[in-house]
Amino acid sequence: AKDSGKNRYVVYDKTMHTEFNERLHLEKHLRGALENKEFELFYQPQVDIAGGQISGFEALIRWNSPELGFVSPLAFIRIAEDSRLIVPIGEWVLREACRFLGDVQAKKSCTYKISVNISVIQLLQDDFVEIVLDAAQESRIEPGCLELEITESVFMESYERIVGKLERLKAEGFRIALDDFGKGYSSLSYLQQLPLSTLKVDKAFIDPLTEDAYSQTFIRTIVALGHDMGLEVVAEGVERSSQLEILEHTGCDKVQGYLISRPVPEKHALELLNGPGNG
Ligand code: C2E
Ligand code: CA
Ligand code: CA
Ligand code: CA
Repeated sequence: AKDSGKNRYVVYDKTMHTEFNERLHLEKHLRGALENKEFELFYQPQVDIAGGQISGFEALIRWNSPELGFVSPLAFIRIAEDSRLIVPIGEWVLREACRFLGDVQAKKSCTYKISVNISVIQLLQDDFVEIVLDAAQESRIEPGCLELEITESVFMESYERIVGKLERLKAEGFRIALDDFGKGYSSLSYLQQLPLSTLKVDKAFIDPLTEDAYSQTFIRTIVALGHDMGLEVVAEGVERSSQLEILEHTGCDKVQGYLISRPVPEKHALELLNGPGNG
């Protein structure tokens, strides 16, 4: 029965009930979090494999709630999306990350880049392109230094509208990365349909990299494919030096992962730039 869903009794078990309450609870606290300045951005360095130097950072949100303690983005981003709170939160992330990069460039060098995770809900906003332009201008950063990380979820709704916006942003000079490539249902056809600059290969492809000969074939093929399409290829979740060695051989452009550094607070991120090889 196709239309019977709405007014039907829903029999749910206790675990569902608990989950539902937990979501409501989180959402309640999430509502005031931006205003109460409970969010902070952490920054995880990306290293250029050939040069061995930090080329930029990915901004990752952290929520320290006075009532709930530290809450992982894995636990609240989805709720922020469902409640649309991700719109103001995401705008704050974008402006704060640009502000950080502006400072880094002023103190260090203008070649550093920043990557920011963008939710599909943000992309659906009419003023998204203007907000990105404004955030970059406000912090005096070149569009080419700001990379927007999107996932294949952009294919779930209003695909045409979203691709139109991504094309405008790409034309303005901003970089677009496809995040989590290889995770879940990623399809090769996505690579052709989106105006991409970068392919971020998911940790799931990096994890088995030392034990398994096939995984080396996969990663080599993905890097070659990305390069053929003119994309930069970044490996995520690199934890062991043996993985980095294999990635070097594939010609992969950049690495990000605990091997280099965990995501760290702003002050610590700046210190990383003073480290060996990053003068
Ligand atoms: P993501 O965009 O795929 O970010 C990478 C995640 O992997 C981060 O988790 C990072 O801390 C973690 N990671 C990095 N290197 C390693 C490693 O070597 N090993 C392991 N085990 N993990 C590593 P985090 O910060 O907890 O973020 C989780 C997810 O939450 C992100 O996945 C992203 O989807 C989302 N997220 C984080 N910040 C934002 C944000 O500002 N906006 C939006 N829309 N989503 C965000
Ligand atoms: Ca990401
Ligand atoms: Ca990712
Ligand atoms: Ca992700």
